[in-house]
Amino acid sequence: MTIKQEKQWSRYYTNRCHDGIKVHYRCNQVQFRGKQCDAAIYLHYPNDSDQVVLFRAVNEHDHTNSNQRKVFPEEAKKNIEELFDLKLKPKKIYEVLQEKNFKITFNQLKNYLVQLRKKKFGPSTLSLGQLESLCAEKSTVPQSDDEPFILSYYVNYADDIDDNQDVVDDDNKFRFFISMKRLLKIASASTRLHADATYKLNWQGFPVLIVGTSDFDRKLHPFGLAVCSDEQQQDFEFIFKSISDGVEKILQSTFMPEVLIADGSGAIRNAFTKIFNNSKMVMCWAHMRRNVNKKLNNIESYDARQEMLDDIDKLQLCESETIFKNASSLFMKKWSKREHDFSEYFEKEWLKTLDSWYEGYNNFTPSTNNSLEATNRVIKDEHTFRERHTLSRFFTIANDIVNRWSKSRNQNQTDPIIYSIEPTIALQKWTNAYHFAKSSKSVLQISSKRKGFTDYYIPAGEAQNITTNEIQKYKRKKWTSFDQFKDLQFRIWKITLSDNASEWKNGLCNCPSFFKEYICKHIIGMAIRLKFCKPPPSAKDIPLGEKRKRGRPRNATKALLLQ
Ligand SMILES: [Zn+2]
Ligand SMILES: [Zn+2]
Repeated sequence: MTIKQEKQWSRYYTNRCHDGIKVHYRCNQVQFRGKQCDAAIYLHYPNDSDQVVLFRAVNEHDHTNSNQRKVFPEEAKKNIEELFDLKLKPKKIYEVLQEKNFKITFNQLKNYLVQLRKKKFGPSTLSLGQLESLCAEKSTVPQSDDEPFILSYYVNYADDIDDNQDVVDDDNKFRFFISMKRLLKIASASTRLHADATYKLNWQGFPVLIVGTSDFDRKLHPFGLAVCSDEQQQDFEFIFKSISDGVEKILQSTFMPEVLIADGSGAIRNAFTKIFNNSKMVMCWAHMRRNVNKKLNNIESYDARQEMLDDIDKLQLCESETIFKNASSLFMKKWSKREHDFSEYFEKEWLKTLDSWYEGYNNFTPSTNNSLEATNRVIKDEHTFRERHTLSRFFTIANDIVNRWSKSRNQNQTDPIIYSIEPTIALQKWTNAYHFAKSSKSVLQISSKRKGFTDYYIPAGEAQNITTNEIQKYKRKKWTSFDQFKDLQFRIWKITLSDNASEWKNGLCNCPSFFKEYICKHIIGMAIRLKFCKPPPSAKDIPLGEKRKRGRPRNATKALLLQ
């Protein structure tokens, strides 16, 4: 339509008259709320025909010189340019400008940034029309598991939604998601969803977003790659829904993540809750720790800083909500007077707003998004996406990436990446577990609160024995100070195993290594002692320099289980 092509008309108002409907357009080179340009057009839809007639006012545009419309002062522009060169994000630039008392709106800033980008990088080569037709062309679901396609896309032209609104250049919206059948199959089998807005990739200034799952070996499996014109809640809703719909339509299966692992981004969290009706969300611990560390730098005393960080690390190892809650209040008791400002910040941000960064929040779930960030970093460090790549070049590269993800997971090729459904136990771990099983550490066995399960208590570290009394104290989980919590909570490990031998790999422990790797030498060691499993023979190799003890082999298992 001519009106669209001319790119300078915005719908103004509509009136009905005796001979039909007239839709008036105004010249959008002047502000909506200011004096209107003399040039104007309207469309006439006569009552008595199917015709549409374009009427053009004979007046010339009268704003050639007023083109520098009532924008912000040159000084603000200079500031923006400097901040832009520092690679600050629009929100941050806006904050700085506010601090410096420049009276501009966020939209004005965004518009100016569009101009600035054009100036710096040349005109954007991206055309929405081209994007839309390319997406349409590539959205047929292929037969092959390893052929990339557009799982879904959304394109919105600014003038379509321009209803008496002043035009903002980047009201143009688009979203598209590239995936493959093999990746969707992984999605349908997965329970964890990783999404992150911290470590972003960019193309033409737009965020390139990767979401995926992780398996029982904590390997990331990306579901695909999305590009959105923004990174608001709607954009993440689009991404999540694309996967969910895709799995349903293409595989006749479901994608129902049990838990989200994300940074603090409200956009991601809200989208997850909305699409999956689920609010189980792990706050990425690495992200949280980076923020805490930054804040801790305001504390002068090095010793205090270190002690607080160590305390927070211990809080992170809490195995359950109850323990976390109790320990947190002891933490506040310990620090709120000594380090008032930090404690206040910590309580507000990490105990009240986002408190799902401790290990026991959800078992068998990574506490960080590091695997996803690493995937992003590889792409970023290789400078795979260049700022000014054309659309078709971008598509080629993005397809290559997604294709590589998919092909490396093809089980028919050599050394494929496997989606592990249980933790892989490396030889070193078997060896450690075997040594633990053969050690003289005493184990106290108590039937678990869970029916059909047994709890085993073992002394941590160098200690060889624990008394029933110590176990009682440990089980009570009552502490009077944070330091007492630290002292008692990490002195004993508790393992819970099913009495059904074959299920030993689903066992739980509360040691750091279990939380990180979903399996630990304690679980494997106990399974060896109970004869639930056998270590591979090579794990029994005694390292050189350590002589096998003489005499009758210890009557290992049973004797070490105190009842
Ligand atoms: Zn005009
Ligand atoms: Zn353990």
